[in-house]
Amino acid sequence: MKRLLLVGAGHAHAQVLRDFAARPMPGVAITVVSPSALAPYSGMVPGWLAGHYRFDEICIDFEALSRAAGATWVADEVIAFDADQRMLMLRSGTVLGADLVSINIGSTLRPPAVDGARVLSLRPLGDLHRAWEALLADLAAQPQGRPIDLTAVGGGAAGVESLLAVRTRLAALCPGRPLTARLLTRSPDLLPGMSRLAARQMHGVLAAAGAAVHTNTGFDEQAPPASPADAERLVLWATGAQAHRWPGRSTLAASETGFIRIDDHLRSVSHPAVFAVGDCAQWADPLPKAGVYAVRMGPVLTRNLRACLGDGAPQTYSPQRRFLALLATGDRRAIATWGPFAAQGAWAWRWKDSIDRGFIAGFARDRGAAPPGPTAGPPLP
Ligand SMILES: Cc1cc2nc3c(=O)[nH]c(=O)nc-3n(C[C@H](O)[C@H](O)[C@H](O)COP(=O)(O)OP(=O)(O)OC[C@H]3O[C@@H](n4cnc5c(N)ncnc54)[C@H](O)[C@@H]3O)c2cc1C
Repeated sequence: MKRLLLVGAGHAHAQVLRDFAARPMPGVAITVVSPSALAPYSGMVPGWLAGHYRFDEICIDFEALSRAAGATWVADEVIAFDADQRMLMLRSGTVLGADLVSINIGSTLRPPAVDGARVLSLRPLGDLHRAWEALLADLAAQPQGRPIDLTAVGGGAAGVESLLAVRTRLAALCPGRPLTARLLTRSPDLLPGMSRLAARQMHGVLAAAGAAVHTNTGFDEQAPPASPADAERLVLWATGAQAHRWPGRSTLAASETGFIRIDDHLRSVSHPAVFAVGDCAQWADPLPKAGVYAVRMGPVLTRNLRACLGDGAPQTYSPQRRFLALLATGDRRAIATWGPFAAQGAWAWRWKDSIDRGFIAGFARDRGAAPPGPTAGPPLP
């Protein structure tokens, strides 16, 4: 019996499991480890923050998917990995060994603690879910007139989309409370890597929402708040993705910033029995940390894991450098951008909504059918 271990309920692993559910492979025992069975789909996170979706509507149920694939589901977290021996230690103390390991654990952020403010980190998404639910409960219990001061840090897609989404939600939940909003970015403009037209349109949307934009500006946790002293201060932390830290990963080749270095078969460059995909992996020519790459690596990862297990030939992955991005603006509208082009409207939101819902639905029904197309999504800073 060959042992395949999937670490992380990421976008690519969802596709691996769906494929194994459709075409089981005798003689292969699959184990899936991730802290939570419900894995949020990143493209729908801004819509969930805005209140357009319930949390369960934006999630893939990995426990159900594992069951369908005949895999063992383990709700736990890998805290150490001996890549030479392919041994993993889980937070519970369990040790798992495998013949083939695939890592799809995403990325994280390490925001500063800020005196007198509540900091919501946009990654990992599981932590964001808990922090957001707690915030909504607390806000409901606060006095009606208390001002809310909202600062988003990071001018990429996650920063602008989450600021607009959170602003929409708070304005609806707390209509009587003064709400100020601003966005800080160290970059010279919004949406680095995207078209100037899209950035210009996003400036217009933020201005219409009353959100000030400060470019070439970092966040200073020591600076006194620009808001009234009694305001509820919220900081949305959406800066560039950082690698998870695992003790004992030292023999696995990683970039200077800690991302697992992979080749064009999505294998670790140092350990051929270890694959890594999505945000946690670093391609030779680094890709933006965007879900669209994790999604598109899924079919190649599936094929290459099968090839390693004796079924078929491996395939190389060639990333698409230009793709359609649909940026939600919090008001059931969106900006669609591709290359130098950009256009906005309610039609773009309906388009995004239908692609995203289709993607999620593909994991709940017709197991084994091809996905309805990779969700278009923006590269992040
Ligand atoms: C607000 C927001 C909006 C975004 N919108 C878009 C968008 O529209 N389009 C787009 O392309 N990208 C978007 N992104 C970027 C996107 O979130 C990431 O690029 C994407 O989620 C990466 O996918 P992944 O499969 O690598 O990992 P993830 O989807 O992050 O999945 C990683 C999984 O691994 C699990 N895990 C983590 N650590 C461990 C561990 N030690 N052991 C076991 N399991 C572990 C996690 O719990 C999680 O289930 C957005 C990001 C944010 C924050």
